[in-house]
Amino acid sequence: MSGTLTAIASKNTVNPPKYDVIVIGSGIGGLVTATQLAAKGAKVLVLEKYLIPGGSAGYFDREGYRFDVGASMIFGFGTQGTTNLLTRALEAVNVSIETLEDPVQIHYHLPNGLELKVHRDYEKFLQELIKYFPQEKEGIRRFYDECWRVFNCLNVMELLSLEELGYLTRVFFQHPLACLGLVKYLPQNAGDIARRYISDPQLLKFIDMECYCWSVVPADKTPMINAGMVFSDRHYGGINYPKGGVGQIAQKLVEGLEKVGGEIQYKARVTKIVKENNQAIGVELANGQKYYAKRIVSNATRWDTFEKLLPTSDIPNKEKRWQQRYQKSPSFLSLHLGVKADVLPPGTDCHHILLENWDKMEDEQGTIFVSIPTLLDSDLAPPNHHIIHTFTPSWMEQWDKLSPQEYQEQKEEAASHLIHRLEKIFPGLADALDYQEVGTPRTHRRFLGRDEGTYGPIPRRKLPGLLGMPFNSTSIKGLYCVGDSTFPGQGLNAVAFSGFACSHRIAVDLGL
Ligand SMILES: Cc1cc2nc3c(=O)[nH]c(=O)nc-3n(C[C@H](O)[C@H](O)[C@H](O)COP(=O)(O)OP(=O)(O)OC[C@H]3O[C@@H](n4cnc5c(N)ncnc54)[C@H](O)[C@@H]3O)c2cc1C
Repeated sequence: MSGTLTAIASKNTVNPPKYDVIVIGSGIGGLVTATQLAAKGAKVLVLEKYLIPGGSAGYFDREGYRFDVGASMIFGFGTQGTTNLLTRALEAVNVSIETLEDPVQIHYHLPNGLELKVHRDYEKFLQELIKYFPQEKEGIRRFYDECWRVFNCLNVMELLSLEELGYLTRVFFQHPLACLGLVKYLPQNAGDIARRYISDPQLLKFIDMECYCWSVVPADKTPMINAGMVFSDRHYGGINYPKGGVGQIAQKLVEGLEKVGGEIQYKARVTKIVKENNQAIGVELANGQKYYAKRIVSNATRWDTFEKLLPTSDIPNKEKRWQQRYQKSPSFLSLHLGVKADVLPPGTDCHHILLENWDKMEDEQGTIFVSIPTLLDSDLAPPNHHIIHTFTPSWMEQWDKLSPQEYQEQKEEAASHLIHRLEKIFPGLADALDYQEVGTPRTHRRFLGRDEGTYGPIPRRKLPGLLGMPFNSTSIKGLYCVGDSTFPGQGLNAVAFSGFACSHRIAVDLGL
């Protein structure tokens, strides 16, 4: 990195850039990077192509409803430990959000009558699972307890850049046992550990679903580090919904960014990363405006960064090798519904997962995800109404190349099919509709700026845990990536981790 600094210093003596850091995109990964750096005194500019911040954690208003674009099961809002990264990111710029505790992470509706809830209370969850699989009592406890071992290692240390030697040395001396614990789990996947303790095929399918519902791959391909985080933090910090909707997180981070002197521009679509001598020195917007900075951070996906913002002719070999290991996950078909409140049976939980046939778990429109945030925050819908946000994996190829009329018809057909399936848990749903809007992979591509609307990278084959996920620096000097196509992957708390790591790496590189 010293070579990079020398090169930038020599250019800057002639023409010093106005900014220390430009961040392309205001997803949670981009905003955490920006706020952390601005809080350390860096001059930061965030360029966002859309009208509001947040990306996949954004929102939209329709007829009295406030819908979350994507995420709504939020980790990272705990009050203790070190893994509560959303809480910490907000605190760093002197802002906060009221959160509402969700007592049940997910209510699963699975094949063969497997109906169970992941309670916030760990023991209550284990007992509910053991009731279905009494013969696996020991194995269940040993598997989930092992997840806690991973979490407990993570939850004592400050989570920063794993590619920064000074930090690694410091953290190793502070927490040698935790570090050794993590090194052991880094190359492992959750499926291998589950099969060490559990043999019941139905239960192993359940563990697959426990992973699939956030990693979009079964347990065999899900890194144990991520599984340890998710399967423990839901009982430790818990799942907490931000009052006012998920969009509040990004809004508050922007408020904090501006408080500490950072800037954000909306409707600012970056079309090009400007390079000089294989070094990123600035960006160009769709309107031709150019901005320069000492460091450039892309919060776009790696595919968008290296194939759209840079010439495809010189994709670095390291990226090509990464693309051989990871592929784009599917996007989603999303259905944003406003419904009459009385359609929800008493005691309904906020998050549901529905699957009728195990063989279809990973199929196009196989698993259905449901969020009803108004059960926690009734202000998001008109009185006596609820939001039901439901989504299911869907590939771009199902939606591309359709005429406008075919596209419309296919959307309507897919929506009514989803509603029909949801009638199993919400009888009378079709008759209770007050508002309906369908989003497809094309919508995700257009509004979130994500190639093929992808949810993020997934391993092409079984890989050694998280070892293959890239950190924040790239082969192009001065260019960093942040967000869900960097370590440790998808999810708001995960991209916040990536933001902490990216800002730390840059702060060290800039000597802040
Ligand atoms: C349907 C759905 C449900 C989900 N549910 C959950 C959940 O319950 N819990 C959870 O934790 N996670 C969930 N996620 C995942 C989570 O939302 C994402 O992993 C996370 O928000 C990604 O953040 P990011 O920082 O990588 O950037 P993104 O959210 O992708 O944001 C990138 C930003 O960059 C902007 N941008 C891109 N290119 C350019 C450009 N060229 N110029 C300027 N701006 C640009 C985009 O407009 C966008 O604002 C869900 C995602 C989806 C789609």
